[in-house]
Order: sequence, then C-alpha cells, then structure tokens
Amino acid sequence: MAAMSPFRRFLPAAILVFCTSTAFASDASSSTVCVIGAGIASASLSHFLTKTPLQPSPRILVFERSAQVGGRIGTVHFPITADRTVKIESGASIIAGSNQLMRYFVQFLDLQAAPPRRGTLGLWDGSSLVLRTSANSKMRDSISFVQRYGRALFRMRRFVSTLLSDYAKIYPLGGPGAEWPPCETMQQLFEPCHGLYNRSQMAFSEVVEQLFSARLGSELIAAITRVNYGQDPAEMNGFSGAVGLAGSGADLWAVDGGNVQIVEQLLKRSKAEVLLNTKIETVTSTKVDGKNRLKLESERDSWLCDIVVLAAPYETADVKFPEALAKSLSVDREFQRTHATFVRGYLNSKTFGSDPPDAILTTEGVSEPFTSVGIVWHDVDGKEPPIFKVFSKTKLTAPSLARIFQRGSKKLAQFPWLAYPKFNVPERFPMFSHNLPGGDVIYTSPVESAGSAMEMSAVSGANAASLIKQKLRLEPEPAQEESAKDEL
Ligand SMILES: Cc1cc2nc3c(=O)[nH]c(=O)nc-3n(C[C@H](O)[C@H](O)[C@H](O)COP(=O)(O)OP(=O)(O)OC[C@H]3O[C@@H](n4cnc5c(N)ncnc54)[C@H](O)[C@@H]3O)c2cc1C
Repeated sequence: MAAMSPFRRFLPAAILVFCTSTAFASDASSSTVCVIGAGIASASLSHFLTKTPLQPSPRILVFERSAQVGGRIGTVHFPITADRTVKIESGASIIAGSNQLMRYFVQFLDLQAAPPRRGTLGLWDGSSLVLRTSANSKMRDSISFVQRYGRALFRMRRFVSTLLSDYAKIYPLGGPGAEWPPCETMQQLFEPCHGLYNRSQMAFSEVVEQLFSARLGSELIAAITRVNYGQDPAEMNGFSGAVGLAGSGADLWAVDGGNVQIVEQLLKRSKAEVLLNTKIETVTSTKVDGKNRLKLESERDSWLCDIVVLAAPYETADVKFPEALAKSLSVDREFQRTHATFVRGYLNSKTFGSDPPDAILTTEGVSEPFTSVGIVWHDVDGKEPPIFKVFSKTKLTAPSLARIFQRGSKKLAQFPWLAYPKFNVPERFPMFSHNLPGGDVIYTSPVESAGSAMEMSAVSGANAASLIKQKLRLEPEPAQEESAKDEL
C-alpha cells in the first residue's frame, strides 16, 4: 500500500553501466520485449521476467527519455560545506511497512532499510497551528490527538488496519517474490482484496463523512491527502484516500543510500539493456518478411519488438499509438503538478511563531502558496542551517518564499513534477493488455488512478511480467522446473 509521510527522508544514489542506442531487429530464436520507461514499474517487470531462467530467454530493451533511470524516484546532491555534500530524495521518498514488494526488493538486492527522519509536526490552517506534536512525549501527543478528534481517531485506525489486511491479499501465496498470476484488468488484480477496487468507484469524502468526523476529515486527513497527493479529501477517490491514510502510519522506511538504487540494481541484475536519452515517439505495426511486428521509433532510430510495454503514464509519455489503441489507453486523466522546492535556512517566525515544528502540513482548502514544508536534512549539532522541502501546486515566487522562510534563506533547487493523477470518481481503468497486429502492448500505469505509489507500480510491473510470459509462451528452463519440484 502507498507510502508517504510528512517526514520524508532523502538519501544517496549509485552508478550504472548502460549500452548505447543501436537500431536492430531481434533474431528469430528469442523474443524482444521493448519497455518504454525506466522507473520502478519497468525495473520490477525486468526482475520478474528474468528471475527464473526462461526458454526461450527474452531480450529486454528499456528506453528512457531522460539521462538517468528512476523516473519519479531520484536523488539530488547539495553541498553543505566546501568538502561535504548531502544526498536527498527529490521524488518518492517514503515506503510503508505494508509495502511487501518493495521490502522484498531490498532484501533481494541486499540493500538496507532505514527509518525516516522523525521530528515535530504541526497542522496549519492558514493563520495558526491547530495541532502540534512535541519533541519528546509520545504520551502527550496521543492525549492531544484524542482530545481533538475523539473516537473518530480510533475509527480511523480500525479502518486503516482492516484496509491493510485486505490489501495484503494481493500478494501471491508464496510471497511477493513468487510468480504473480497474470491479470488483464484492475478488477482482476484487486479481486483478492475484498472490495478494495470498489473504493475507487466512490468518493473518499463519503468514507470520511460516514466513518470519521468533519473535524478529523478537514484537519488531519486533509493534511495527509494534501502532502501525499496535493489534493483535498473531496477530490480523492475512496481507494487513493485510503492509500494515503495507510502510508501515514508509524512503520515507514526508505532505502539507506537512496530509493533509486532499487531501480538501478534491478535493471542491472536482470541484464536489461537500458537506452538512456532515448524518447520513444511512435509505436506502430509493421510487416517484416511477411510477418507482423511492432515497431518503436525515436527521433533517430527504430526497433522491432515482439511485445511493447508502456511503463509510464500514457498522459505524460507523449507516445503516438495507432488511433484505436490510443483510445483504449486514454481515460482523460489529468496529472497534478507538484513543485518540490529545496530551501536552506529557517522558517519565518513572523508567519509560524518563534518555535515552529520541523514539518508543517496544511488543513483542508487552506489558501497558502505551499501544501507542506518540512526539514529533510539537519546537522547533528544544529550549527548548520537545515534544508527544507516545500511541496506546492504552483512554482514558488519570491513573495511566497518570503512568507515561508526567514530573510537570508537560500533556494537550492526546484523540481516541477507531473506527480500523480488528479483523482476522478468513479475512476476508469484501461486494461493492462492490448493487442495490435504484430504483438501485444502491455500498460502498467492504470494502477495509478487507484493510488500512485512505488509499491503500486512495482505490483503492476510484476503483473506485466506474468502477462508477457503468458503472451510469449515463455516457460521456465527444464532444469529450473526440476529444482522447483525438488523444493516442493
Ligand atoms: C514529488 C513526489 C513524491 C512522491 N512521494 C512518494 C512516496 O513518498 N512514496 C511512494 O510510494 N510514492 C511516492 N510518489 C509516487 C511514485 O513516485 C510513483 O507512483 C512511482 O515512482 C511511479 O513509477 P513508474 O515506474 O510507474 O513511473 P515513472 O517513475 O514515472 O517512470 C516512467 C519513466 O518513463 C520515462 N518515459 C516517459 N515517457 C517516455 C517516452 N516517450 N520514451 C522514453 N521514456 C519515457 C520517464 O522519463 C520515466 O523515467 C511520489 C511522486 C512524486 C512526484
């Protein structure tokens, strides 16, 4: 389930070796799987397609339009002193304890999970902090939460715990690293999860009204949906709202050294050939030696493929598909712009008082230039000014920055992400698999309309790998089958 928190942690990255772009046609003995995009969905797919040796073994080509892999997972480096640099997550940062597939990847790759940075938190209604946590008394915090939200708080906790046990049923019986059954639709994928799919067909505000209270909904729950998705509860569907709540629990983590390592290392270990700086412009059917094939074209090159995977949102990928397929992939989904701005300095005491919390989230409908602001790095002895990350829907102007930060604070960088879908009830989901003369086209991003998170895309990547094996009739090598039987 999704995983985002007010306390985001920012960590370093690693190095990869990639091949360069050359036009070619696949040979007859092995199939060529062409993947558009090198984010977590693509990495998960590559892992599950190569984890068990297959016959015939497919060739995996991954096309990435930017200069690095990771997509919406990435790190940024900031110099702190002349001889010291810190690495901070610029995109997806926090993973929830319930995210079994991300946990499995960390173990498989021998990476380390680290807890996110903890600090004090405040809820800002545009003129004051309606609630704030203390630095050293969990007990006092619990009491003030219960005093403010009463029984609704317990109902919310129960709701999240039921949700998580329903969600856990999505994983195969053998665990997240086992073979996933191939699913053609979102409904099938979420079938084991007791009605979770239905939540995407209803407004989250219905859940809030029925189960919680107006105050909990407009303050704490709104703060969570705003920091995670830049949207108020009234704009969320029941699934994505629940995903946000599930990712706000206590058992959060990130990958020590940077989440992007999962993408880098899964692609590397699966021997996927990654072509960076290669934007795919068109996907068409073509005839070669009398046989239908799929053709991918960039500005300079073209490739023949047996199967194509679109491992990026159709709405942001800017790939031209044949008209009928384009219609099936499109659900008129808009994407929410979220600017992640990094500032080194101190919060403005005129706005937030002389002792502001480490992270400030905004309540429902607040008209501030930011949706959240929080410390993502500070020195152990507190001598150096900390680094803050601000999320905002529009680019922060000089007056907006001056409202949030003390004079003398310095803007370090800004990332204008097309971050996640603008949710739209009832959500419509394109199918995962589509057919063109010459081969199938698999699409991983329908899941994002339920909830956009690393785990969701990783799950969709695992499902895509199973669909590919089914479509291309790829079987485990006989030796592998024997050893699998032995294990039983
Ligand atoms: C600011 C921010 C904070 C977030 N925080 C969290 C968090 O804390 N926890 C969490 O779980 N999730 C978080 N998310 C959501 C999470 O990042 C995404 O849901 C997930 O990473 C999506 O992965 P993906 O592989 O499906 O797509 P992407 O990561 O978008 O990967 C798609 C790739 O395809 C490439 N591409 C697109 N079109 C083409 C083309 N035509 N040709 C070639 N390449 C192409 C893109 O460049 C990109 O690299 C956050 C997202 C943002 C933006």
